[in-house]
Amino acid sequence: MTDLKTLVDLIKQKKKVTFFQGAGISTGAGIPDFRSPKTGLYSNLKKLNLPYAEAVFDIDYFRKNPKAFYTLAEELYPGKFNPTDFHYFIRILQDKGLLQRVYTQNIDTLERIAGVKDEFIIEAHGSFSANHCIECKHEMTISEIKRIMGDKKIPKCGKCKGLVKPDIVFFGEALPVKLFDTWEKDCDEVEIGIVAGTSLTVYPFASLPSELGQNVTRVLVNNEKVGDFDDDDLIFIDNCDSFARKVCRELGWEDLLSGLKKSGKVELGDEIEKITEEMKDVLSDVPSEKGNTKQEDKVEDKVEDKVGKVDKVADPTKPDTIKQEESESKSEVKEPSLLDKLKNLSL
Ligand SMILES: [Zn+2]
Repeated sequence: MTDLKTLVDLIKQKKKVTFFQGAGISTGAGIPDFRSPKTGLYSNLKKLNLPYAEAVFDIDYFRKNPKAFYTLAEELYPGKFNPTDFHYFIRILQDKGLLQRVYTQNIDTLERIAGVKDEFIIEAHGSFSANHCIECKHEMTISEIKRIMGDKKIPKCGKCKGLVKPDIVFFGEALPVKLFDTWEKDCDEVEIGIVAGTSLTVYPFASLPSELGQNVTRVLVNNEKVGDFDDDDLIFIDNCDSFARKVCRELGWEDLLSGLKKSGKVELGDEIEKITEEMKDVLSDVPSEKGNTKQEDKVEDKVEDKVGKVDKVADPTKPDTIKQEESESKSEVKEPSLLDKLKNLSL
């Protein structure tokens, strides 16, 4: 039996998948690999005159010279890149109730953009998905930090004037507590562990796959053999996207994959931001005194229209009635709907 057949059979038996992934799953999206000497990010940093390449992610250097990081952040900021086939493969597993967790070293949030829910994602090195003051921890919204960055200014805290940065883990900073807490719970629960697109050189992340028990099916998808993978494991020396397509084809998920890819072209974040602004406008139209029923009705219609739009953007692949049954087996934890979030935001 080929490794592909073995893996596909396990997924058909409803074994859940846990991912351990790195930059190699995002290179297909056009995001440069941090450590590749020629095409890598670090070698593009020469123009910033850094004392050494990694300084751009060093918290002490950032305090003295935040401009270097922000120059790079602008290049990397989410919204400029679309998820890859591999990211959408993860999304499909989630929708089928077959995803256990995604441990990622990437800060690009492409898993989120592909529609993988927060409860499944452990961003071991943080991400751009939230921003805080490095002194008092006060949060800054994504739209605010984007506006400041767009003006080529350095984001400063509204409370204490400290530097604000995305929650990316810099050298000299502790890894998220959530990583260790979740791993403690997950470690013995893993059924299939897929290590993808990582050279497994950055610790402690690199040690996670070797902590898996004997009965776990370990899978490596990478352009070379890494870590302690051997004949007992399933090894795919392959491009991550090509691997994802092969697995999807074997499982009959090709249409799902191409559908998600097509809908993913919408720049989700920007679209939601736009609709949020529109909602605010509509809500500010609400008459302050009672008595104007006609206007109230009009506002209600407008809100309903926006809500429809929000739902569509939030989940462009919303299961239709035929797929409804499947979606019932999805995780029981329910996130507050986008509308609830918007309501909290606006009122
Ligand atoms: Zn502050």
